[in-house]
Amino acid sequence: MGAKKIFRYPHDALRKVSSPESFSYSSHVDSVVEELDDAFKETIGLALAHCQISDDSTRAFMCSDQFAGKLALYVFNPQIISVSKEKTIESEGCLSFPNIWLPIERYDTIEVVYNNWIGDKIETKLTGLAARMFQHEVDHLDGKLIVDYVDRKKKFQIRSMMLKGR
Ligand SMILES: [Zn+2]
Repeated sequence: MGAKKIFRYPHDALRKVSSPESFSYSSHVDSVVEELDDAFKETIGLALAHCQISDDSTRAFMCSDQFAGKLALYVFNPQIISVSKEKTIESEGCLSFPNIWLPIERYDTIEVVYNNWIGDKIETKLTGLAARMFQHEVDHLDGKLIVDYVDRKKKFQIRSMMLKGR
């Protein structure tokens, strides 16, 4: 089977809340990992959430190996358990919004907990780009997108642009 295509806004799947992974069937975990791997290979990005390629999505994302040492390559059931007071606005893109960059405010430092793909529970602190990427991906798993951070007029413009671009 070829790689799954990455859904583009406003695809319905991007608005679903993803289901937690229970780790009771390893074949399910393996198929999520495989789907992420195949789709991510075809693209250049910081990370890819499972809901960007699947209608029946699991709370999981894959990140690029530039985050090695900070995070597992495959992150399941991510949760943000605490956030810094400091926030920063930076330009952010998304694989579901090709060529669109939006200013998004994110916490500078976060403490997170997640499972790696064999189900180990990992707790860690992230800063900078890793923290920003993690917040972006957790948003995806909750059905939230970068357009939700801009005003309605801008959101409308982006929606029209994306619909025309199909
Ligand atoms: Zn994204």
